Amino acid sequence: MAQGKILSVASEAVPLVKTGGLADVVGALPAALAPLGWDMRVMLPAYSALRPLLDGFTPLTQELNLFGGPAQIYGGAHEGLQLYLLDAPHLFDRAGGPYNDSYGDYGDNPFRFAALSWMAAKLGAEGAGGWQPDILHLHDWQAGFAPYYLRKMGGTAPVKSMITIHNIAFQGWADARHLADLRLEPEDFHAGALEYYGGLSSLKAGLIYADHITTVSPRYAEELMRPEFGLGLEGVVAARARDVSGILNGVDETLWSPEIEPIAFSSTKMAGKAKARAALCAEFGLDVAGPLAIVVSRLTDQKGIDLIPQVADDFVAQGGGMVILGSGAPDMEAAMRAMANRHPTRIGLHIGYSEALSHRLFAGGDAILVPSRFEPCGLTQLYGLRYGTLPVVAATGGLADTVINASPASIAAKSATGISFHPTDALGLRQALARLVQLYADRPLWAQMQRNAMRQPVGWGPSAAAYGRLYDQLLARPSA
Ligand code: ADP
Repeated sequence: MAQGKILSVASEAVPLVKTGGLADVVGALPAALAPLGWDMRVMLPAYSALRPLLDGFTPLTQELNLFGGPAQIYGGAHEGLQLYLLDAPHLFDRAGGPYNDSYGDYGDNPFRFAALSWMAAKLGAEGAGGWQPDILHLHDWQAGFAPYYLRKMGGTAPVKSMITIHNIAFQGWADARHLADLRLEPEDFHAGALEYYGGLSSLKAGLIYADHITTVSPRYAEELMRPEFGLGLEGVVAARARDVSGILNGVDETLWSPEIEPIAFSSTKMAGKAKARAALCAEFGLDVAGPLAIVVSRLTDQKGIDLIPQVADDFVAQGGGMVILGSGAPDMEAAMRAMANRHPTRIGLHIGYSEALSHRLFAGGDAILVPSRFEPCGLTQLYGLRYGTLPVVAATGGLADTVINASPASIAAKSATGISFHPTDALGLRQALARLVQLYADRPLWAQMQRNAMRQPVGWGPSAAAYGRLYDQLLARPSA
C-alpha cells in the first residue's frame, strides 16, 4: 500500500547520533509515517561511531573524489530504521562531535555537509540498490544544498524536495570564495538565489530551491517572517509564504511515556510519580516542600538559561527547588554551579548529557522550566506534559502552541496545562515561578492540571498525518 518513498536527510537521528531535538524528530518520523503507507528512509553521515555498522551494510553509489576524497553510500537496516550512511572518511571519520571538537566548529563544515547534500541529491536523481525516492525531505542547513544539486543533476524521475527548518539560527554560512569548490555555479551567485550577505548560506539555498518549506510549529512559521526571529532570512521565508507550513513535532511515545519508566505511573495511577519524585530528591540530596522544577537543556542564550540564577533565590525562599541537567556555555555552567552551591539541599545540578538521567528528571519533577528566547518547537515541554511535569514556558514558537496557560478561564474550563509568560526576561520568569508556587499549593487544582496535561495528545499521529498530506500535495504538483 506504499503511497510514496521519502528520503529523509539529516546530520543526526536517534538512536544513532543526537545533540538535540532534530535527532528525536528524524529518528521518530519513519515509524510514524509507516502506518500511513510512506516508506521513509534516513540518510546520515557515517561518523566514526557509526562506521562499524557498514560491515553489515551494502555498498551502493560511490564517488571517487567528493571534496577531497572517496565517498560511498551504504544501505542497510538498524533498530527499525532503513538507513543510507554516507562514508567519506576524510570528512566524517574523526574524533569529536558531529559539528565540532574541543577546539570549536570544524573548519570544513561547509564541505562536510555539502557532501551529504550532494550524495542525497544523487540518490534522488539516480536511485540506488533498486530504490529511488519520490521526495527528498531535508533537515536544516546540513542538507540545504540538496535541492540545488538535485535541480542541476536533473535525473530521470521528477523528484520533489521539501526542507524543514528546525532552527533558523544555524544557517550554514560559507565564504563566497568556496563557490566553485562547493559545486555551485557563478551565475547563481546573486541575491535572488545563492548569495547571502556577500557569502553563502546552505539554509538559504534550501529555502530558495526546495519545492516546499516546513518548520516545526505554526507559531514559529509566522515568527520566521519577522526580523527578530528570521535572523536575516525573514525576507526569504516571507517571499515563499505560500509554500511554508508549520507542523508541530511529536513525542515518540515508545521512548517517552511514564507507563514504561522503571517507577511507572499514569494519569489515573499517580502514586508512582510521588515515588519518582522522592527518588530524584534522594539522588541529589534534596529536601523540597514546594514545587520541584527541572531543566533539561543545552545551556545557551537561546534557552534563556541565564535568567534562572537571577530568580532562583526568590524561588527557593518560597519553598521551591530545582534539578538541572545540561551543558553548554562555560559562563552559564559556572553560574549554575554557583547557584547550586548556594542552595545545596534545594538545587541539584548535573553538568553533562545523560539520556537516562533526563528520564528520571521528567518522571520525578513537578514542573519543567523552558524560558527560551525563541523556540522553534521544543520537545522538553512536550515530555513534561506527557509526564505530568507541568511546563513553565516563555510564550514563543512551539512553546506558545503547546502549553495552555493557567488563566481563570482555562482553569474553569479544565484545560490549563502549565504556565506561560512574556516577555522572556527575569521579571517574567520570577512572576511565573511565584505563580507556580501558588498553583502547586492548591493540591486539587494541581492534580487537575496534571490530568489535563497528561491527556493532551502529544504523540506523532496528527503531525505524521499532516506531513503525509503535504507529501501528497507535492507529488500531485507538476514538476518545476
Ligand atoms: P534543541 O534541539 O534546541 O536543543 P529541543 O527541546 O527541541 O531543543 O530538544 C532537546 C532534546 O535534547 C530533548 O530530547 C532533550 O531532552 C534533550 N537534551 C537536552 N539537553 C540534554 C542533556 N543535558 N541530557 C540529556 N538530554 C538532553
